[in-house]
Parts: sequence; structure tokens; C-alpha cells
Amino acid sequence: MISLTGKTALVTGAARGIGRSIAETLVACGARVAIADLDLASAEKTAQEIGEARGFACDVSDPAAVTMLIQTVEDAFGSLDILVNNAGITRDNLMARMKDEDWDAVMAVNLRSAFVATRAVQRGMMKRRFGRIINIASVVGIMGNKGQANYSASKAGLIGLTKSSAKELASRNILVNAIAPGFIQTAMTDKLSDEAKAQLAAQIPLARLGEPKDIANAVAFLASDLASYITGQVLVVDGGMVM
Ligand code: NAP
Repeated sequence: MISLTGKTALVTGAARGIGRSIAETLVACGARVAIADLDLASAEKTAQEIGEARGFACDVSDPAAVTMLIQTVEDAFGSLDILVNNAGITRDNLMARMKDEDWDAVMAVNLRSAFVATRAVQRGMMKRRFGRIINIASVVGIMGNKGQANYSASKAGLIGLTKSSAKELASRNILVNAIAPGFIQTAMTDKLSDEAKAQLAAQIPLARLGEPKDIANAVAFLASDLASYITGQVLVVDGGMVM
């Protein structure tokens, strides 16, 4: 039912994890997808595996590289209709022990990159009077988390950026929304012990950790015409954990 045929998309941090699943799903819906990641070989490998996609190298913590990426993808695809700001990192620690570098690194990758990409992509989207920007936030940006002051602040910031961008860009038919995943099974959460995972699952009404596909399906919906009257929203995809 969801068709993105003729649309072009860029997903950051898409060589693996949630980003990869988003890229795969957008391709399955008919879009041509640019996969950006730190390592060009990994991005190209993922692109080859999923079909109608191309890999690009980009460290999203570098504003010049992000601006250049948008231009390169627009030149390669002829347009850029859908931007998914997905790349994200954690540098967890209790605040007393958190270093300034851990704060800055998380802000640069998780938050500043989305601002820079949104600023760069809007010119082309405005001209074409069409755009979908989807920011991958987190439930901890809504509820906070011990040991994640930097990460939760970056994700709360992403929600503020989403709402401000939505207001600035709505008149040009550019819709900006955020998705707040709960606990999703990827390398980011693999670090947790089985006991910690079981404890988390016990707080989730649907009684399981999420799969990357659960997030990818929500992205496909927000990118599609089915969501053409939705902007500035935060869609929580967490099995009911936060309600
Ligand atoms: P992941 O498995 O760690 O994958 C992250 C991807 O981003 C990797 O391919 C990584 O590349 C890439 N990346 C990291 N730093 C980058 C940079 N500076 N520039 C470009 N790419 C970079 O993470 P994930 O679990 O899929 O998370 C994806 C997004 O969902 C993140 O924004 C995360 O905060 C959010 N999220 C995840 C969960 C969860 O439970 N997993 C929950 C809420 C929100 P390398 O492999 O080279 O490092």
C-alpha cells in the first residue's frame, strides 16, 4: 500500500542497524536510496545487498561533510525528497564522570548533524515544493535516563529541532517529524546483559524488545502520502513503554 516510487531518499548511519532496515524498507517501497556511513566500503556493501541504493562516505559530525553529502546525493539522484537523520552514538556515563568530549561527540553526531542536513536539504525541497524529513530521536529524549545526560539531551534537542523545522518549512510542503524508538535490538543495545534486556522487556507492555523493522515501517509511513497531514510530531515506537 505504501508507494515511494519515483522518490529519492538519504539515510545517515545506514550501513547497519536501524538505518540499514530503514534503507531496505524505503527501497522495498520503490524509492532510490543513498546510504551514508562512516566507512565507504560498508555503505557500498549494504547498498549492493539491498538493491536500488548507492553508498556514500560521510562522518556526520563534520558539518562541511554533511553539506557536501547533500549536494553529492542531489547531483547523483537529480533530487532529494526524503531525508532520514538516523546516525547516532552513545557515550554513556554518570554525569559526575562524563567528560566534555563525551558530551560534544554525542551532540555533534546526534543533533548538530540533523540541523546541518536540514539546513542544506531545504533549498532543493523548497524549490520542488516537496520534502519529508524524519529525525530518529529516542524515548530517552522524552523521559531522560540515568547515565545518558548527553544522549538524552541530544535526543530532546532533536525533538525541538523537529518542531521548529516543521513550523519553518510547512508552507513549502516540507513535513518534518521525529520517531522516538524504545529499546530496539541492534549493536547499540547488544552491549546490555541478558538480565538487563529481560528487565527492560518487563517494562514493555508488548513484552519484547523492538526490531529495526518496527522503526523502518514507521519511517516508510511518515515518508509516504498516507502521512501528508502530519508534521511536527513525535511518533513513539516502543511497544507501549512510554504512555
Ligand atoms: P547502531 O547499530 O550503532 O548503528 C549506527 C550506525 O551509525 C552505524 O552504521 C554507525 O557506523 C553509524 N555512525 C556512527 N557514527 C557516525 C557518524 N559520525 N557519521 C556517520 N555514521 C555514523 O545504532 P542503531 O541502534 O541502529 O541506532 C540508530 C539510531 O536510532 C540512532 O540515532 C540511535 O540513537 C537511535 N535509537 C536507537 C535505539 C536502540 O534501542 N537501538 C533506541 C532509540 C533510538 P559504524 O558502524 O561505522 O560505527
